[in-house]
Amino acid sequence: MTGQPHAAVVVGGGLAGAAAALVLAERGVVTRLVRSGPGATALSWGSLDVAGASPDPVGLPWRDPVRSHPLSPGERLAYLLNARRAHPYGALFPERDAGRAVRAVKEATAALDAWLRPAGAGLEGSLDESRLLANVRGAVRVSDFAMVEAAAGDLGRAAGVVLGDVPGLSGFSAPAVARALGAELAALGVPCPPIRVVRLELPEGLQSLAARPARLAAALDDPAATAELARSVRGQAAEGRTLLLPPILGLSRTHSVCRALCEQAGGPVAELLGAPPWSPAGLRLDRALGAALERAGVEVRTARASGLRGELGRIAQVELEGEAALEADAVVLATGRFVGGGLSERDDAVVESLAGLPVFDDRGRRLDGRPGRGQLRRRYADPQPLFGAGVRTDGRLRPLGPDQHPLWSNLVAAGEILGGFDPALQRTGLGVALLSGVRAGEEAAHLAGEALR
Ligand SMILES: Cc1cc2nc3c(=O)[nH]c(=O)nc-3n(C[C@H](O)[C@H](O)[C@H](O)COP(=O)(O)OP(=O)(O)OC[C@H]3O[C@@H](n4cnc5c(N)ncnc54)[C@H](O)[C@@H]3O)c2cc1C
Repeated sequence: MTGQPHAAVVVGGGLAGAAAALVLAERGVVTRLVRSGPGATALSWGSLDVAGASPDPVGLPWRDPVRSHPLSPGERLAYLLNARRAHPYGALFPERDAGRAVRAVKEATAALDAWLRPAGAGLEGSLDESRLLANVRGAVRVSDFAMVEAAAGDLGRAAGVVLGDVPGLSGFSAPAVARALGAELAALGVPCPPIRVVRLELPEGLQSLAARPARLAAALDDPAATAELARSVRGQAAEGRTLLLPPILGLSRTHSVCRALCEQAGGPVAELLGAPPWSPAGLRLDRALGAALERAGVEVRTARASGLRGELGRIAQVELEGEAALEADAVVLATGRFVGGGLSERDDAVVESLAGLPVFDDRGRRLDGRPGRGQLRRRYADPQPLFGAGVRTDGRLRPLGPDQHPLWSNLVAAGEILGGFDPALQRTGLGVALLSGVRAGEEAAHLAGEALR
């Protein structure tokens, strides 16, 4: 066996799987990534929450409960490490060392930014100060990191806000956003900057696309269309104002579109974060990760992994539906939860879809084998055990079997399939995907090497 390159298979192509695969490839491991389709990453709204604040009691607080000053994301991360033991950050930083966690966040976010930049995307932010970012409904999210196109829209820094109204744009009303923003900022105890609404003229030929925002965003990738839109925002962001636009600024060269608009507007131009039913931010992230995987030489297959085969507690092959199995010295499980497909319900019972691993809720109760709907509570505000469900791991991110030992010695897990948190309430979704993806890539590289010794 000596002399053969190590080989790893990553199952799942959201942020967690892509990050793991990129780290593996950087370490010289021959890496194949199998994904059945886009997952929750491709639906995300434009922030990358490492330790975002949330009004929910299980979420992280925006202000210090005693002294009432706003907490920095770094302080929220330290609080999370100590107060929420079941959260996946507990497995990543078992010694609860906030300094080490902060360094890991800096390294992982810098790596992600470098992976995304060549594809016209990128990440901005820090753990030093929160950003108050509005979404297309006017709700304010207390964020730390965000995709470049949204990051400049920090309401905490703007001397004034100009909201761009696009006539006929499906599901968007700038006057309604302006009203909601006032109420949201008041609830956060933050002074509301003066807000003005301006009507933007879409380039002729694109006006008929206003009812289909995804098509409109794709059409704005055309530099001629961008230049025309830029002329209609001239001077709007001068004198310390920030121009906020709905998320329509291109699909594949958003960074350039934003730069062109900033130049004409005379100051920061940012997109509002997305909200259901549609947000292009996740789609852009998904595409940019795909481009990074291609550049890194990772072979990406669109296929469904159907099982793991091996002996003596080591996986040797990942079985695929309708295709030949893939040989593997190490495997990364990054299949997400119900949106991605990592968890599902079969014969009226919750299951981990690929390896039949035990599934736990955030209180450590076994959920697999029980009906999913039995875990749903009637009221939205009630704790929802099903939404925090996932696998548990040892300190090397190896999923535990029923006997609390790793089921497979060369399988590591990353992303939302790790249980113990509800990404909607605890606002750490893409943060967990990135940090655990990077760590899983490092662990899998070691495990692949160990296989050949
Ligand atoms: C609507 C929405 C908006 C969100 N917005 C934000 C946000 O703005 N900021 C934030 O921080 N978080 C956000 N989140 C949470 C965040 O998107 C997720 O926590 C994160 O994307 C999970 O990443 P992942 O890689 O673990 O899983 P996913 O992105 O779900 O990827 C799972 C992958 O596994 C693949 N897969 C599953 N099973 C198999 C199989 N058997 N064989 C092959 N492939 C398989 C899927 O096809 C998919 O490619 C949002 C979530 C949702 C649903």
